[in-house]
Amino acid sequence: MIEVVLAVDLGGTNIRMAAVSADGGIHSRSRAETPTNVSPTELIELTVRMAGECCSSLPDDSKITAVGFASPAPAALDSGGVLGKLPNLPTLNGMDLAAALRSHLPYPVVLENDATAAAIGEHWLGASKGFSNVIHVTLGTGVGGGLIINGNAYRGVDGTAGEIGHICVEPEGHPCGCGSRGCIEQYASATAVGRMGRESGFFYETALDIYNAAKGGDPAAGSVMANVGRYLGIMLAGLINTLNPEMVVIGGGMAASWDLIVGPIDTEIRQRAFSEPVNRVKIARTLLHDDAGILGVACSAHGLA
Ligand SMILES: [Zn+2]
Repeated sequence: MIEVVLAVDLGGTNIRMAAVSADGGIHSRSRAETPTNVSPTELIELTVRMAGECCSSLPDDSKITAVGFASPAPAALDSGGVLGKLPNLPTLNGMDLAAALRSHLPYPVVLENDATAAAIGEHWLGASKGFSNVIHVTLGTGVGGGLIINGNAYRGVDGTAGEIGHICVEPEGHPCGCGSRGCIEQYASATAVGRMGRESGFFYETALDIYNAAKGGDPAAGSVMANVGRYLGIMLAGLINTLNPEMVVIGGGMAASWDLIVGPIDTEIRQRAFSEPVNRVKIARTLLHDDAGILGVACSAHGLA
């Protein structure tokens, strides 16, 4: 018999699910696009359908022990499973996710912030395994952050810690879904790269188009990508001074542009942060890629994080 948890990673673009055992083995998977303006009812229907798909390909003697659900919401510890504010999925603001899941899937439910889940996953089985103090940055539809402090996920007194995507890097900058403006999310997410490409006057559609143009030597696209690294370096310099971490892990879809952003990140942190923590910190790329969040929330649902 294998004991597995159903681990879900809800993102602004995709929802992924996997059945994961306590050694990190992935035994089945399901994936769907996140519907535009997804309603709470649609989310639960989709989750139940994906759970059915995951379970149908498991061996008959498998036992599901819990559901772990990672979402781009601050996972308030005293919320009882009610989601707070989701800047990138506002139609789910205030949804009682834990209750809705329990009423359709007869298992204990563990909720986690998606970026904290990615930090836990990478620390469990990926790039930061064996390191005790880690900043994890997820560059996707938004910018997520997760902190590992002294070997454990750091969630803060209310469970809302790690929201580094909403650190301000431009005081009068672009408005952000969180209600502030000039957040790093508006300068380093895939969404932001698409916007900055359009603002630069060229007909790029997506972050991938801009990356490819930059790789091909297009100076405007190259400048957009260099600025992504520069803004990340400004943000990270402050965090490196504050936390003196051993490692910064860059994950999420935008980690694919690693070769264009790591240089400007390194230059910026060396110009801005103290030399001792800068010399200590290692800037690393995700090893788990799209599976970081799923594995992290599986780790939590198995009671291992
Ligand atoms: Zn923000």
